[in-house]
Amino acid sequence: MRALIIGIGQCGTKIADLFALVDFETLAINTSKGDLEYLKHVPHERRILIGDSIVGGKGVNANPILGREAMKRDLSMIMRKIDSIMGREDIDIFFLTFGFGGGTGAGGTPILAEALKNEYPDSLVVAIGALPLKEEGIRPTINAAITIDKLSKVADSIVAIDNNKLRESGDDISKAYEKINYTIVERIASLLALIDIPGEQTLDGSDLKFVLKAFGSFATIGYAKEDASKLKNLSRLILKSFESEGLYLEANIESALYGLIAIHGPPEVLKANEIFEALNYLTHKIKGKQIFRGFYPDPREREVEVVTLLSGIYESKSIEDIIITARNYAQSFMEAKEEAETKKKELLQGLPDFDDIYP
Ligand code: GDP
Repeated sequence: MRALIIGIGQCGTKIADLFALVDFETLAINTSKGDLEYLKHVPHERRILIGDSIVGGKGVNANPILGREAMKRDLSMIMRKIDSIMGREDIDIFFLTFGFGGGTGAGGTPILAEALKNEYPDSLVVAIGALPLKEEGIRPTINAAITIDKLSKVADSIVAIDNNKLRESGDDISKAYEKINYTIVERIASLLALIDIPGEQTLDGSDLKFVLKAFGSFATIGYAKEDASKLKNLSRLILKSFESEGLYLEANIESALYGLIAIHGPPEVLKANEIFEALNYLTHKIKGKQIFRGFYPDPREREVEVVTLLSGIYESKSIEDIIITARNYAQSFMEAKEEAETKKKELLQGLPDFDDIYP
């Protein structure tokens, strides 16, 4: 399976940098020259500065309108770069990583997603974005709401990662981001590494594409791992990967259309009856009733690892909170603005034209 990871903005390029560390094809795009220089693993010729003519390499200061403009201006340069890296043929998936609450990623990602869909109609475009922390305030929430709306019209799936949910209490923000980014890359890289491994009951690229082609709805990845020597019941471990604490965002998994499960571990613990018990339960639980699965017995392995992908999700508290907060804010802002205009008119009413009075 051929995939290209494209990081956009600071958050997105940091995540792409970790993918580069584990040998994925990557590209890093930013309006901030400093942030691009700070990356460690994306090769220098794969780092693209955009919007230089409008912000001079200084970033867009969390303004998604500027981020959008920067991406539009330099889009043809980016498309040429992608062409030179990947060639025109057979790119299965573009993964676009970014932060929903900022400017370059939030503004630029929907523009790039749309261009990729037009240029590469047979490839999937999957957006992987971090949702803002509540404590960041209203602007990141509004940026996120705008970007969710735009991406839902152009991307095939949106993998939203709720920073609020994944942040462990006590961690400061930069430590928390570091851990969250690692979690994102670990799970997605584990899943991609298993796709296309030959075997009797394994997953291939077309299964993954089928699951992720979900008309711009939400997807999430779950994960559970256990020492094979301590494992009591594989069915329970599989179900754990679907439980709320294992997922990237607060979501009602029953609203999912498709699921995919990859199970990797020593052959003696991959017991068919335990696997099918969990698969049966989950197939009935999700709305679309379709779960793809791959089994990867590996005699060298000491741990059992379950990676789960759920797509087509439309009930998510993490997303609803953002949309409702942004909508309420917009409403009260418009009311306050109208009131200010009315008050201004009242205040200035009946004033003469002083130009006629002054000598
Ligand atoms: P941009 O460079 O203008 O696109 O802005 P950022 O990438 O800094 O995006 C800011 C948003 O992304 C904030 O709302 C943060 O919550 C989130 N964010 C920033 N850095 C990281 C990171 O390294 N990891 C994660 N998970 N989220 C981040």
